[in-house]
Parts: sequence; C-alpha cells; structure tokens
Amino acid sequence: GSLPPADDIADLVVRAHARYADVNEGRVADYIPILAEADPARFGLSIVGVDGSAFEAGDVGVEFSIQSISKAFVFALVCEEIGHEAVHELVGVNNTGLAFNSLIAMELNGGSPMNPMVNAGAIATTGLLPAESSEERWRRVREGLSRFAGRKLALDEVVYRSEAETNHRNRAIGKLLQSYGRLDPDPLETVDVYTRQCALSVTAHDLAVMGATLADGGVNPITGEQVVSAAVCRDTLTVLASCGMYERSGEWLFEIGLPAKSGVAGGIVAVSPGKGAVGAYSPRLDPAGNSVRGQRACAYLSRALGLNLFASA
Ligand code: GLU
Repeated sequence: GSLPPADDIADLVVRAHARYADVNEGRVADYIPILAEADPARFGLSIVGVDGSAFEAGDVGVEFSIQSISKAFVFALVCEEIGHEAVHELVGVNNTGLAFNSLIAMELNGGSPMNPMVNAGAIATTGLLPAESSEERWRRVREGLSRFAGRKLALDEVVYRSEAETNHRNRAIGKLLQSYGRLDPDPLETVDVYTRQCALSVTAHDLAVMGATLADGGVNPITGEQVVSAAVCRDTLTVLASCGMYERSGEWLFEIGLPAKSGVAGGIVAVSPGKGAVGAYSPRLDPAGNSVRGQRACAYLSRALGLNLFASA
C-alpha cells in the first residue's frame, strides 16, 4: 500500500501538532550539560513519503543534535560494508532490557555489546566502519549520514565539546569493549568518533528524509541516491523494531507498530517501510529518554494513517 491522499496527510500532521503542543510532561535531558539549555517548547513534525513529498508542522527547521538516532544510520553503513552475518556475530541484535548506557548488559553476556542501539553496541559498530584512521572514520560517518539526509550535516561543536568533557561512562564502555576483544581501533578515539556522530545537527525534516531513505530500500527520495542496499534497510529496520526505543521498545511497538529510533536531544524517527517516515522533535523526555510529544504524535499518526505494521485491517 501507499500513504493516504496528500490532503489527508497534510491535515493530520497539523492536527497531531496542535493536539500535543501543550503536553508538558517529561524533562529535558541534562546528563550532557548543554542539552539542558534546549527550549522545551520546541515541537516539530515532518512526514516525508518515498515519493519525496513532505508534510510538516511546527519547528521542522530547528536544528538539534541527532544523538542516538545516529546509531541507526551508522549501523546501516556498517551493514553495507561488512554484511548481515558479521554484524549479527560481532554486535548482536537482542534488546538488553537495560538503560542505553549500561555496562552490566555487557558483563552479563560475556562481553557482547548486545545490539547496535545501546551505547556499547553503537561504539562497537562505529569501530567496525572500515577506515585507516579515526579521522577517516569520522569523515565516513559524517558523509554517510549526510547522504541519508540529502544535505551536508554539520557538527555542533558546542554539543560535541559538552559531551566530550563529561562522557566518562562511554569511555569506560570503550575500554570494556577493548578488554573483551570487541573493539579493534583505539577505544578512546572510537568513542570520540561516536561522540561526534551524536553531535551532528539535524532537523525534524532531516530525520524524516533519513527515515524515508530506509523506507525506500535505501534510495534517498529527495536526491535519488542509493545510499545503502534494500537488504541493509531491512536489517536496520528489524533492529530498530526490537531495540530502537531503549528499554521501552516493546511498549512502543505494541502502541505504534513501527520501527523507530529516538535520541536524548528529543528527536524521533519512525519508519513505515515502503511508504515513508515521520521525523519528530520535542526536547521533553520520558524516563527512558524518548520525546514525550514525539511519541504521542507518532502514535496518533500511525493510527490515523494506518501505518501499524502488524494490523491486518
Ligand atoms: N550521545 C549520547 C550518549 O552516548 C546519546 C544518548 C542517546 O541519545 O540515547 O550518551
């Protein structure tokens, strides 16, 4: 199937925005100091179809750091390079049921980072991107994510520095991965590349384009570029379904029925395979780290547009 008629989508996006714009539950993240300064009133919603059509409401042009949403797209780039089997073996695809920055999950599972959507698995995944040096690895990450977005993404230096000064836990994760033989390149340099990838600036519109590329078998609907293969999109969306929304992934799938990824700056991308994607931005988060308004809007849009993958009618 395809998305409903354009007029209906345009109307529903505006309605979803109006419906949740006054929700003030949740808290802006502050464990990365600079994130605490985000304006909690911001709220943007964008839907981009696989035909390149866009339907938007609110703050869709406001930039924020991509944070954990980068994990989905770096994972796709790495799958493209090393293949399904190697990724399965080296990173894993099972939910941890624990917080995104947990070290215990690794300890309980013989050093396996468990999946590419928690920090341990994401840092291991970044380390798997073939490169001669960390600088080259960073360049490849940035260029790859920019191809998904269809425009050159910039590093937010302030966010990067704020996180680089305070990311002791991620550095510990890097060293722990090294001790288990799960990270070949230098662990602290790899954590630095990961910290940069999290500090790339995007908008809700960018997230929708990036998600629509995954929905479109790897073809960016705006630029027409084949960024990754259709098989890689399938693998990436599968992991997003099981692990994309932190330890709330089961609840998200139960309510919304779409593969999705969130980040602690307040972004969410939810992908409807073959149809398109929703990009949402609003900084107030639930305790797991998912944007409160973003989640509600995605739930509303999934229902109203008939996107739940598990619904037969
Ligand atoms: N850069 C953040 C971290 O590694 C990303 C966390 C997130 O968005 O979940 O802690």
